[in-house]
Amino acid sequence: MKTYKIACIPGDGIGKEVVPAGQEVLQALAASQERFRFEFTSFGWGGDFYREHGVMMPADGLDALRGMDAILFGSAGDPHIPDHVTLWGLRLKICQGFDQYANVRPTRILPGIDAPLKRCAPADLDWVIVRENSEGEYAGVGGRAHQGHPIEVATDVSVMTRAGVERIMRFGFRLAQSRPRKLLTVVTKSNAQRHAMVMWDEIALAVSREFPDVRWEKELVDACAARMVTRPASLDTLVATNLHADILSDLAAALSGSLGIAPTGNIDPERRYPSMFEPIHGSAFDIMGRGLANPIGTFWSCVMLLEHLGETDAAARLMAALEAVTADPALHTGDLGGKARTADVTAGVCHQLLQR
Ligand code: ATP
Ligand code: MG
Repeated sequence: MKTYKIACIPGDGIGKEVVPAGQEVLQALAASQERFRFEFTSFGWGGDFYREHGVMMPADGLDALRGMDAILFGSAGDPHIPDHVTLWGLRLKICQGFDQYANVRPTRILPGIDAPLKRCAPADLDWVIVRENSEGEYAGVGGRAHQGHPIEVATDVSVMTRAGVERIMRFGFRLAQSRPRKLLTVVTKSNAQRHAMVMWDEIALAVSREFPDVRWEKELVDACAARMVTRPASLDTLVATNLHADILSDLAAALSGSLGIAPTGNIDPERRYPSMFEPIHGSAFDIMGRGLANPIGTFWSCVMLLEHLGETDAAARLMAALEAVTADPALHTGDLGGKARTADVTAGVCHQLLQR
């Protein structure tokens, strides 16, 4: 029987509740078949570790993760530690250290969910947003001069490399090709940003020639945001820069019902390093420690983790189990207007798995 080594990094806040719930569900899935098992290793990195050691994770932390098959991450964020410390000190350190350059964010309206989008458009949605995860607007290049003076200047430079754009574009086209509609929307802003975004468009055109069976189009990011609300069914797979996809994918998550549902994968498509899967929500200190967190975003992230491992049957079983659970309003947590607790939702998914 195959053994998958999974690193679990709960992080902060409700991460400490949803990641153990994810492990429980994966364990139940493993117990229900004889193809594979999981070996979990937990790492107590994040805000508490920072208070004790002055860093979010140890200097040799990446070495400890390197041999893993995948990483299940909770959330990093702590009201008593500056955001840039929690973000750059843990999550981004792993994303960058392992060159997880493709951030994949599926969005669908799950059964039983009262999604805001249902109130604006009759259509259903099934999107995957691919976010460039290694450069662009978040490259960290820029600076400030003459601080506090009337002549103060500040810059954030969006850095795009040909190699970086080519690889994310190729990933986007390949993903679109693997989906039934074979439709890719390349999100851009080349009408206003006339250097990097123009190169982005040129590379999209060049890479498109490698995928003659994929229908593709360019769409300005502002128009794309509007279209997600007015004509949601006209979109399928999207590829966008770090900043654009950051914003569009939060919009997508909100339209589909709740931040608590949406999953994401930080993928190294070349499989040189482990990829990392996590719910898109943050640490949510307002509800932490009370058993109220919605674990569905984490469970869906586990589905993506299984797909990445090539366990497509197991992934489909878990997805079906969690759709059966969202369809039951008695198993909705507070963010979905219900009264269920993290443990109820987890037990519900485990129960479904035993029946499938
Ligand atoms: P961070 O600073 O780490 O981003 P945050 O406090 O901003 O964390 P978010 O996770 O971004 O919190 O979410 C905003 C709000 O949405 C939370 O305060 C919480 O009330 C709600 N929320 C987020 N995720 C969940 C979840 N999984 N279950 C229930 N409610 C959630
Ligand atoms: Mg937040």
